[in-house]
Amino acid sequence: MTSLSVEGKHVTVAGLGVSGISAARALAGLGASVTVVDGGSGELHKERAAALEADGISVRLGDAESLPDATSLVVTSPGWKPSSPLFAAAAEAGVDVVGDVEIAWLLRGPDAAPWLAITGTNGKTTTTQMLASILRAAGLKTAAVGNIGTPIIDVVLEGDDAYDVLAVELSSYQLHWAPSLRAHSAAVLNLAPDHLDWHGSMEAYAADKGRIYEGNQVACVYNVADKATEDLVVEADVEEGCRAIGFTLGTPGPSELGIVEGLLVDRAFVENRQKNAQELAEVADINPPAPHNIANALAAAALARAYGVQPTAVREGLRAFRPDAHRISHVEDVEGVAYVDDSKATNTHAAEASLAAYESIVWIAGGLAKGATFDELVQKSAKRLRGAVLIGADRALIAEALARHAPDVPVVDLERTDTGAMSAAVREAARLAQPGDTVLMAPACASMDMFVNYNKRGEAFADAVRALAAETA
Ligand code: ADP
Repeated sequence: MTSLSVEGKHVTVAGLGVSGISAARALAGLGASVTVVDGGSGELHKERAAALEADGISVRLGDAESLPDATSLVVTSPGWKPSSPLFAAAAEAGVDVVGDVEIAWLLRGPDAAPWLAITGTNGKTTTTQMLASILRAAGLKTAAVGNIGTPIIDVVLEGDDAYDVLAVELSSYQLHWAPSLRAHSAAVLNLAPDHLDWHGSMEAYAADKGRIYEGNQVACVYNVADKATEDLVVEADVEEGCRAIGFTLGTPGPSELGIVEGLLVDRAFVENRQKNAQELAEVADINPPAPHNIANALAAAALARAYGVQPTAVREGLRAFRPDAHRISHVEDVEGVAYVDDSKATNTHAAEASLAAYESIVWIAGGLAKGATFDELVQKSAKRLRGAVLIGADRALIAEALARHAPDVPVVDLERTDTGAMSAAVREAARLAQPGDTVLMAPACASMDMFVNYNKRGEAFADAVRALAAETA
């Protein structure tokens, strides 16, 4: 598809969440006859349904499986699995299934802002926000959208003049359902097993991530340290003249951005890149300057430079950037020990990155493992561990990995999953820590066994740390 005409058509929207509601309203506004379907039928669903029905949008609750009559297009919310019965019914009826990103892409006008797109297993939100900060520092009208912020359809419907360029975070789900997307430039930050239950296999997950490079015009940005991301560039079908640009924490080669003596250096978007390099910023400009975050900054810088942003704006944008809550956020120092909340480290790949950022750590970990194994993570991090405090449903898996690969590290197994366990965990961690250490809550697991979400888990940690600080003051 290259454009979208839904006027007078019957469109079914799958899912009554934020993106489904935005899609339903937008499509109804364009003249479609919209039915939203959702398997739920609780109070919240009923409230949302009533609000949509008041605006002439049909809602069918309690049946997420059958295809409403006369449907000519299905627009799905990102969470719905490709194997959902509704999509099988759509396939049988010869009806296309697309996501909110596809709709947004097709609704863009001829002079719409180009998209600089970002995906990866970890670091998407941070990198997208860093990019938006850099673009803003360059004086451009921009927004961080996609998997974050205002629903992307709403942003596109603001009109072609509303933005100069967009920083777009895309999840693998969104990419799966956005076959027409053609970004100006795009980056895949890293690739590690995640969400395999949704995609079915690692190959399918990688293939969906790789779609972000399809049809890129200026640059495909990949991670030199993660060959799988470079392989996706090689496989992509791009516009004539589009370049492959690597980012590395080492010294950059030609067509790469990297680090030289504490400086972020560009050897890609410079004249005579065989010989020349351009300083963009200092590592100290990045907040926080942990290795994985330096990689995020380099990826953001590469996309900004691909768009033509000047080096000074890269520096200013990185300086102005503040990470979202619960992403390696320093809560407080108590008796010479730093307490850091990385509740957003919900998988082992993310936890590995944050453990690599500190020298001597008391690690608070555990929760729902989502099928993960912990041997590699513990092996790579063992030498940095002063101790570990384990909480949550699947803590035994981490305890076993620690026993196998770090038998000398003292481990406190909290044997509890109640919400108050976090306060006990912080106390145990304080007991194990010595001045100069970092107590790092990077659980490598999802939070839902004990908390509503990772935000609540991070807040519980910060509250416990503040209570500890108040007692010792
Ligand atoms: P996403 O949007 O992909 O979930 P975030 O930017 O919200 O990513 O970061 C989530 C977590 O992933 C962070 O708390 C940190 O632990 C980890 N992380 C961030 N960037 C990277 C990276 N480049 N590589 C590995 N882990 C990372």
